[in-house]
Amino acid sequence: MEPAPRARGLSLPTRILLGLVVGAAVGVTLNVLYAPPLGAEKSPTWLRIEDWADTVVRPLGNVFLSLLFMVVVPVVFSSLFLGVSGLGSVQKLGQLGSRTLAWFLGTTAAAAMIGIGLVSLVEPGRRVTPEVAAQIKAQYLGEAQTRIAQSAQAKGWLEMLVDIVPRNVVGAAADNTKVLGLIFFALVLGAASMRLAPDRTRVLRELLEGVYELCVKVLNWVMELAPYGVACLIFHATAKLGFDVMKLVGWYFLTAMGGLVLYQLVVVTLLAKVFAGLSPRRFYAGSRALLVTAFSTSSSNATMPTTIRTAVDEFGAPKEIAGFVMPLGATMNMNGTALFEGVSVLFLAQVYGVELGLGAQALVVGMAVLTAIGAAGVPGGSIPLLAVVLTQVGVPPEMLALILGVDRLVDMTRTIPNVTSDLVCSLWLSRREGHALRT
Ligand code: ASP
Repeated sequence: MEPAPRARGLSLPTRILLGLVVGAAVGVTLNVLYAPPLGAEKSPTWLRIEDWADTVVRPLGNVFLSLLFMVVVPVVFSSLFLGVSGLGSVQKLGQLGSRTLAWFLGTTAAAAMIGIGLVSLVEPGRRVTPEVAAQIKAQYLGEAQTRIAQSAQAKGWLEMLVDIVPRNVVGAAADNTKVLGLIFFALVLGAASMRLAPDRTRVLRELLEGVYELCVKVLNWVMELAPYGVACLIFHATAKLGFDVMKLVGWYFLTAMGGLVLYQLVVVTLLAKVFAGLSPRRFYAGSRALLVTAFSTSSSNATMPTTIRTAVDEFGAPKEIAGFVMPLGATMNMNGTALFEGVSVLFLAQVYGVELGLGAQALVVGMAVLTAIGAAGVPGGSIPLLAVVLTQVGVPPEMLALILGVDRLVDMTRTIPNVTSDLVCSLWLSRREGHALRT
């Protein structure tokens, strides 16, 4: 597809960034000018803006999002199957799998601890007066209750583990929140293919290679639309953002966002340097399209094909390793989400007046890790699980109302470390396997 003539000359990541800036600028401006203060009547102009944002801009953004989601199932299946069968031996699969899991658990737990540490330091919950808390709660209670209702369907840990094994693989593939079932199926088939004579699976492998190549081609087309899709998504998010609430829970917002930015800029950058040998400059220059896609879609799943593309095309990772790590990472490895959960649980406990001692904090870390693994890589995927964690530490889940008004922006931001951690993990493993990266 030819790029639009006026955009010729600017690289795709730059155009996507431009879309982000323009969409955000327009959204923020309209919000600041016309959005009603918390609890006030909406003006006719604002009602029209909201209507336009919901009925025109959001569907356009959603088309972009759906185009990205559209290739997720074939990419997950083909890349995992090919990745696993390309490893050659179950032993190697075990080795790669255990290193990948160690990375996921280690980085996710570290992120949750950083989140908890930050809240203990800043104490944002002590800076919210009961009146302010009641005011915000009144505004967002309805939304909180919808999320809590979703969390009622959330399963216990054991059930969640049992559910990784799908009864019906088509059913698992049909639901964006059940990708783990599809992943399991692809892993098992990939492992089984190692036990068959190569010529029994040759046709299937060639077919899946074709499917994978086609998806990459489609993804390249979809990414040409990214500047417009991203502009629509970010416009909708910023135009409807609760800037009022943001001021009211400012300390929470600053702690969560500060923690995420710090985690990305310090921890992930350092991991990229130490484990993948990438200078910060090289790492961020190669990841620009990835960062903007993650930020604007707020979805690790929708970003997953771009994460693979970044690892392979930008940094030279082999397809089988990227194709193995990214589908797993998109659903299981969520560093940003774990940090956010640590911050949110402790903040809401502080506001509610529940003292969480060291033991309870350790429990929060454990649960943040588990929920980050269990959360679907879709926008707001972790919120229903957060309600479960709150209940377990004795905080009423309705307290979620306090953070929902600003969650959109926090969600967009936490998705960035969610995906960059997968990227660095795949680059580290590639390097360990002796592949030279483009550093
Ligand atoms: N939006 C996040 C992701 O897809 C999940 C979450 O934290 O809600 O990575």
